[in-house]
Amino acid sequence: MNQSAEILCIGTELLIGDIVNTNAAYLARRLAEMGIPVYHQTVVGDNPERLRAALQIAFSRAEIVITTGGLGPTYDDLSKETVASFFGRKLVMDDASLKAIRSFFARMNRPVSGNNEKQAMMPENCTIFPNPNGTAPGCAIEGDGDMEGKIAILLPGPPREMKPMFDESAAPFLERLSGQTLVSHSLHFFGIGESDLESRLHEMMTKSINPTVAPYAKTGEVLVRVTARVHKKEEAAALIDPVVEEIRASVGEFLYGIDVGDLQTALVRLCQAKGLTVAAAESCTGGMVAERITSVPGASEVFEWGVCSYSVRTKQELLGVDAGLLAEHGAVSAETAAAMASRARALSGADIAVAVTGNAGPDPSEGKPVGLVYAAVDSAWHSEVLTLNLSRRDEDARAYIRTVASSHALNLALQTARRKP
Ligand code: ATP
Repeated sequence: MNQSAEILCIGTELLIGDIVNTNAAYLARRLAEMGIPVYHQTVVGDNPERLRAALQIAFSRAEIVITTGGLGPTYDDLSKETVASFFGRKLVMDDASLKAIRSFFARMNRPVSGNNEKQAMMPENCTIFPNPNGTAPGCAIEGDGDMEGKIAILLPGPPREMKPMFDESAAPFLERLSGQTLVSHSLHFFGIGESDLESRLHEMMTKSINPTVAPYAKTGEVLVRVTARVHKKEEAAALIDPVVEEIRASVGEFLYGIDVGDLQTALVRLCQAKGLTVAAAESCTGGMVAERITSVPGASEVFEWGVCSYSVRTKQELLGVDAGLLAEHGAVSAETAAAMASRARALSGADIAVAVTGNAGPDPSEGKPVGLVYAAVDSAWHSEVLTLNLSRRDEDARAYIRTVASSHALNLALQTARRKP
């Protein structure tokens, strides 16, 4: 498809800085993946005249305009009425949407107001996008006459309604329009920063149009999405596989999985497949490793045991770390981390035990700097201690250090499970 799209977010709250325009970021990313160029984004307040003017400008330079917001009952259908009249269409009652709105309120055990029923008034001759997560349906209006070739896509404002509606209805609509479909794979990296990964993949990312290669930074991790546009799903592998191989050749050592979701899911699935069990002894992460593992469905087959031994006393009394070792090296030390992991394995009987001890700040402790963390793994076939310097100078430093420390522990367990003969 060589049509370009423009994103038009509607809401006075956005203009005055009350909320951050995450909808625009989401749509921009998704459209980039779909290979649909976006040259402009606009924000306009809840005002019909200014919205009309913004539509005029947007449609003068793009074929597709995607709006978010202003579909709710409180705005008197600002978006729908204004966009419909821009396309010379009236609003008519859509019975299916009316039924959906009534059943949404029945599910919530709340009475339906006349205002809510008005949300079922849709532009005539449009494609309706159902809203299973809210009341306001979205829609696509395909222009005729003077507006021939122009398409407006109207989505709700709340991100939890907008994102699924885009993914489930608007994206397939755009794909049908272009006669193409998208096939996408997510490559998950740990242990390499986004800028490092980007600079290593830079050439591929800029030269590759189909598939597109797009990196996304998550806390301490990077996800690279490889997306191909094809006429038939079966054609995708021929385009995607060589690019994945090229990525593997360049940064494969940091790749922990493809389409695996996240570190904890990758760990649980691998341990299930190999019949391995895991335990965790945690100090500075305070149970985050255990929490992340147990958030994965099926964790009960894998997760044996978890202890949060925050104080020196419990490291000694609960885990049985040697008092002399603690006194000599301190609670934040490679020796303590290794002892915590090996004691956790002995006490739990798990195949793999991980341990984390460190200083998440804000103040140095035992004379050790903020961000110094030791992560250890112990198993019958592989043991290792990592020294990590996770310092970061901002107000979220503590949360960042704890999250990334827990990710290192999960990755250690994952790599150790992988090494199991
Ligand atoms: P509703 O049916 O809930 O009234 P709506 O389509 O009328 O939805 P708005 O009333 O414009 O949407 O926005 C509702 C809420 O959605 C806002 O208060 C805000 O929290 C969130 N929201 C709206 N637009 C955006 C945006 N561009 N980015 C992030 N959040 C947004």
